[in-house]
Amino acid sequence: EERFLSGHRRPEDLRIEETLRPHRLADYPGQERVKEELSIYIAAAKQRGEALDHVLLYGPPGLGKTTLAHIIAQEMGVNLRITSGPAISHQGDLAAILTQLSEGDVLFVDEIHRMNRLVEETLYPAMEDFALDIILGKGPSARTLRLDLPRFTLIGATTRYGALTSPLRDRFGVVMQLQFYSVEELTQILLRAARILKVQLDPSGAQEIARRSRGTPRIANRLLKRLRDYAQVKADGVITREVADAGLRLMEVDALGLDLVDHKVLLTIIQKYGGGPVGLDTLAAATSEEPETIEDVYEPYLMQIGFLQRTPRGRVATRAAYEYLNIPYGDHPDG
Ligand code: ATP
Repeated sequence: EERFLSGHRRPEDLRIEETLRPHRLADYPGQERVKEELSIYIAAAKQRGEALDHVLLYGPPGLGKTTLAHIIAQEMGVNLRITSGPAISHQGDLAAILTQLSEGDVLFVDEIHRMNRLVEETLYPAMEDFALDIILGKGPSARTLRLDLPRFTLIGATTRYGALTSPLRDRFGVVMQLQFYSVEELTQILLRAARILKVQLDPSGAQEIARRSRGTPRIANRLLKRLRDYAQVKADGVITREVADAGLRLMEVDALGLDLVDHKVLLTIIQKYGGGPVGLDTLAAATSEEPETIEDVYEPYLMQIGFLQRTPRGRVATRAAYEYLNIPYGDHPDG
């Protein structure tokens, strides 16, 4: 199961996420550059009466890629069909999905880097020429039949841009990276969520949760839900800064939103490897996590707050990490 502070979706998130999704670009706080670009492309495509270009969204989990796909479909006034790379296991599955789309529809493929190679190759002519090449028969008598598809928009989402093949990358007209949210943006998202969920959250409480949500709306919403219970039982139902702090301490979420795994990653680098560099596999073994989880979930935020650097020789803990953990930087070889 995914850890509490990971940005990956957990089963418990499903129900509230539907309720909390903004439906318009204007109601979606943060990602200003992405929104500005998108609003231009959407307006232009609508003026020309065409489908929007294919869009690739990448960045850590829980930053709002699925939400943006919903919003794009809504702003374009078309249907959204959602699937994921691993869910399309055969060319036939993809053909079934594509032939059911209507003109202009959006197809959202989450984890697009995990699509199998044959399916991916079927996707190329679909993206480029809106056509499917179907092979009939076998051996020397085999023939190819070209099937026309409606003009559709593919929105691909991935946490690992580098894992995409270049022919696939090249077929997206629009490629955008989602960024971690600022404390102000997360505060705004939390106050909106509290209104919808009828939770009594005061602004200082919202700010405290925002500071400890690793720049990630999914985590912010999850913490809000847990703190609602905490406030109801341990306080008078209102989430103030003090209540948020006490509840988050209980959940072992530290002042910067780091959890035990983050601490273990940093302490392994510092105490066992003199500050680094250390290889990814070594860190994964020390924390009993998958290397992919360390790379996609833990490291991006540790790098964002300047505690960790990726170098060609491995991961290095920074002076800021030593200071945060109260370990003298003098213990470091370069200290
Ligand atoms: P994954 O990569 O795991 O699919 P994701 O990046 O697609 O994650 P979403 O499912 O879009 O993330 O968002 C997770 C939750 O955070 C949802 O509840 C969504 O409503 C909320 N959320 C994300 N971005 C925003 C935003 N800018 N404003 C308000 N809520 C947001």
